[in-house]
Amino acid sequence: MENANYTALTPETLSTRLVALPAVTERLGTDAESWQVKEVGDGNLNLVFIVQSDQGSIIVKQALPYVRLVGDSWPLPLYRAYFEYHALTRQAARDPGTVPEIYHFDEDQALIVMEFLSPHVILRSKLIAGEKVDDLGAFCGKYCARTAFRGSELSMTSADKKADVGLFAGNVEIPAITEGLVFTDPYFEAELNNHTPELEPVINELRNNIELKRMAQVMLTKFASNTETMVHGDLHSGSIMATQSEIRVIDPEFAQYAPLGFDIGMLTANYLMAYFSQPAHRGTDLEAYQDWILSVITECWSSFEAEFRHLWNTERTGMLFPKSLFEDQGHSSETACDGVLADIWQDALRFCGIEMHRRCLSLAHNADFETIEDTTVRAPLEARNLQMGAELVLKTDTLKDAKALIALARTFNA
Ligand code: ADP
Ligand code: MG
Ligand code: MG
Ligand code: MG
Repeated sequence: MENANYTALTPETLSTRLVALPAVTERLGTDAESWQVKEVGDGNLNLVFIVQSDQGSIIVKQALPYVRLVGDSWPLPLYRAYFEYHALTRQAARDPGTVPEIYHFDEDQALIVMEFLSPHVILRSKLIAGEKVDDLGAFCGKYCARTAFRGSELSMTSADKKADVGLFAGNVEIPAITEGLVFTDPYFEAELNNHTPELEPVINELRNNIELKRMAQVMLTKFASNTETMVHGDLHSGSIMATQSEIRVIDPEFAQYAPLGFDIGMLTANYLMAYFSQPAHRGTDLEAYQDWILSVITECWSSFEAEFRHLWNTERTGMLFPKSLFEDQGHSSETACDGVLADIWQDALRFCGIEMHRRCLSLAHNADFETIEDTTVRAPLEARNLQMGAELVLKTDTLKDAKALIALARTFNA
């Protein structure tokens, strides 16, 4: 699939190279000289350009043949744009209106032309700035439930689902980043790791906990081999863009078929990290804003559960838990649904705990903690996050529901 004709775009060459595309000129007009091009990629991997004319605006996202964060010493296949494109089309079908509209895809150039979300900003920066987003938890819970349920054999025909698993199985190197950076590297001194120096004693404790390492590998086994549904794969607050009242999900190049609880678990971790980092970012509004973040988590889980149950009752058309076996026999399937949700909850808590670890211990940290310049302030907040993460992985059984999760977060925050 590697692309003989590929050339990375630059702000100088972009107009000339894209002016022949109807999908672009339809929105910007044909006076390419007048287009304004700005490279805005702030992610770890790709080029992202905003292109504007007096008629309209677009985003052009192009993969680079290496990891942007590290440089060309770490090559990475261009085909991730192909998986991002396919993931976006599936998400648009499974939860309409939640992803940017796609205008054009060029496989050779590893390039996607899409809707410019504006004035949306990255949710992580809103969380650091102390801004609220209306109905954030409800949006996230619904999005996770719909994409999880509708991408699984609870809903899809086995033929369609298995064909799709086959397609996404070609996405090898990108999930491999998750497999290494998320599940393995945090738990030993891997070469690319870094951490806040003052955390050393806490980290030693984690890395000497054999049960913790074992459970992280159990979850890696599930992540790598359980193809329950198509996950976004990189669902953190940097992959959500929002205004105060409108929310979209971007950047699904890590998509693959994986456990039902993966996305919501990773996302929950990112809300918890936002929560634990707040004492360094807020003043007198600290408590109120932290309470709001916790309410987003609660809301996310309650709407996930409500939507999942709704889809269970209205769209259960796949081979799993078929109506022919339950309802058609006059038997309720409610406890079966309870059981599926309980398994999702357990998996999600463990993915959540592991994500909380890797964002402080492995390669790609998050701005919630990283922008706290004084390490003597940052370290104790990261330590709360690390210790709660371990509890989520090891004492999963003691946490029955989101209420218990929130209560636990409050005890670590004290
Ligand atoms: P990466 O895969 O490198 O992380 P992203 O898809 O996350 O790239 O995009 C990087 C940044 O570009 C985002 O953080 C956001 O600021 C901006 N961006 C990406 N897609 C859009 C879009 N559709 N509309 C507006 N801004 C976008
Ligand atoms: Mg990104
Ligand atoms: Mg750090
Ligand atoms: Mg990305």
